[in-house]
Amino acid sequence: MTETSIDLSRHALTHWTGPLDLPDFAALSDEAFEPVFGVALAAHDAEVAAIADNPETPTIENTLAAFELSGEALGRVSSIFWLRAGAHTNDLIQKVEREIAPKMARHYSAISMNPALFARIDALYAQRESLGLDAETLRVLELSWKGFVRSGAKLDETGKARLAAINEELASLGAQFGQNVLADEREWALMLDERDVAGLPDFLKSAMAEAAEARGEKGRYALTLSRSIYEPFTTFSDRRDLREIAFRAFINRGQNGGSTDNTEVVAKTLRLRAEKAKLLGYESYAALKLDDTMAKTPSAVFGLLDPVWVKAKEKAAGDQAEMQELAAEAGHNHPIAGWDWRHYQEKLRVRKFAFDEAEIKPYLQLENTIAACFDVAMRLFGVRFEEKSGIAAWHPDVRVFQVLNADGSHLGTFAADYFARSSKRSGAWMSSLDSAYSLGKGSRPVIYNIMNFAKPVERQPALLSLDEAKTLFHEFGHALHGMLSEVTWPSASGTSVSRDFVELPSQLYEHWLTVPAVIEKHALHYKTGEPMPKELIDKMLAARTFGAGFATVEFAASALVDMTYHARPEAPVEPLRFEAETLERLGAPEAIPMRHRTPHFGHVFAGDGYSAGYYSYLWSEVLDADAFAAFEETGDAFDPELAAKLKKHIYAAGGSADPEQLYIAFRGKMPTPDAMMVKRGLA
Ligand SMILES: [Zn+2]
Repeated sequence: MTETSIDLSRHALTHWTGPLDLPDFAALSDEAFEPVFGVALAAHDAEVAAIADNPETPTIENTLAAFELSGEALGRVSSIFWLRAGAHTNDLIQKVEREIAPKMARHYSAISMNPALFARIDALYAQRESLGLDAETLRVLELSWKGFVRSGAKLDETGKARLAAINEELASLGAQFGQNVLADEREWALMLDERDVAGLPDFLKSAMAEAAEARGEKGRYALTLSRSIYEPFTTFSDRRDLREIAFRAFINRGQNGGSTDNTEVVAKTLRLRAEKAKLLGYESYAALKLDDTMAKTPSAVFGLLDPVWVKAKEKAAGDQAEMQELAAEAGHNHPIAGWDWRHYQEKLRVRKFAFDEAEIKPYLQLENTIAACFDVAMRLFGVRFEEKSGIAAWHPDVRVFQVLNADGSHLGTFAADYFARSSKRSGAWMSSLDSAYSLGKGSRPVIYNIMNFAKPVERQPALLSLDEAKTLFHEFGHALHGMLSEVTWPSASGTSVSRDFVELPSQLYEHWLTVPAVIEKHALHYKTGEPMPKELIDKMLAARTFGAGFATVEFAASALVDMTYHARPEAPVEPLRFEAETLERLGAPEAIPMRHRTPHFGHVFAGDGYSAGYYSYLWSEVLDADAFAAFEETGDAFDPELAAKLKKHIYAAGGSADPEQLYIAFRGKMPTPDAMMVKRGLA
């Protein structure tokens, strides 16, 4: 297909004719991405040129609105492409990704540095107080203007050219980083036999059997670096030798030498980010990134992280001492190492709370946990999810749901892709194919969730750990944020909010997983159908903050290293040495590695989404702990009045107002970290 023969108004990648506002996935071909991108980029350039060169006086309509609605075809091909690059990639997609990432960066750089376009936005901005704008439009105009300035609109020609080059290179490096980690994860598997897996819980053995079969070794067991196998294996396996092998492979992803090693990628990325910040007049890259967040400055972030770090280390040290004793009782006198922590922590949990994780799992069927997510959404927000069979999506495992309002009208589309496979990157995330807004002809949301649960062998139900069930609720919380959005402007829709606010709807939603009424109804044993015994629920809830020392240390270490990298005016020359030195300076416990070490820290280096931003989860947690406390104060986890406020000011509001104002509108005041410290058991 040549580029000139592509008609964007008819092509399957840009003109979506599937049911429920979806593309017709069956009609898509991977070969089409590259040429369609080419045509869509050119089409967007033409649209932007028409707005910039419009001889009429700039108005909200002919400039801001026209700009927000431009690039529809590019948005469509991009959203399908990035979905595929993350959730179901292949060699061709990876090749296109490496090529398209810098092209897109160049494209958007050129737009933000288009002097004629910026002059029109700037003119509107200058008279913003006298235009009689509603609050949302005013905010969109202000954010748009700031976005242009932060993207270099006020730089001279030399500065603009340099910034564009930096952005392009950063985009390539980000794509390379992610692909390297995926390659290392894919590459590594340790094939085990029956005797190596003796004593492991059934769910884990069946996940490992499935993983082995997928690698052509039917009848054996694959220990892989997928979190859903790695974490339970290092928790439950008595084989210290195998735990150590897996641990080392896991923490060295992206740092194995050869073509997939990320060391140099990271060094270059940090160097370019520091240069970019300087060019734009910021003291550091963190200062640039934090400028439009709730935290605003690196010192505010350290102000939250530092005290939490101290408390978490104390807590972890206490646990470690107890674990050491427990190991000694069993005749193991080695110090608790990184590959021992989860293992002995689990044994300590069993001793203290008289149950183990594997006891909970038979009650946490994936199917019922999905139903619990939907049920909570129904009770809080009055929306219903109806599964639609026979709709082709990007992979046969994907499930499609229609989302309906209380009156039965169409609200949006939800697609979910639950199981791990080697074409999918690790982790769990939410994104959208289309977002909800009313500007122009408007758009209904098409939202998706990607998970990496171990796929069970045929005819067995998928069972989740408590952590995995939480992840399901978490991503579903993001999905609701996208789904329930009631805003005018595309750029204010759903999760387009400040980064340290965006985890509020997701983390808050996790709280409903352990609301007694929800557990009682949905946590049913997969064999007997019996509800989880009251005694087990109580023990599970009592143990909720157990292990918080470990979890908080591994998280905070990652957040602190991320912020320390980016809060300096100059990039460190040898990032991995810098990582080690930073951890040493912080007094990080040797046996607790960072949750994400630098060479595979995708949040921070596979694109810049969470660079100088990993702290956001904890920042949002201060908000979510306090927000859920509001429900607890009413004595009803589904208090209708509070739920209505929550929907209006948080889940439906998107980025239509300042996050602090939104939170105060819901809760009456801003929170202190107290509820978060209690929630984590660190108070
Ligand atoms: Zn999240």
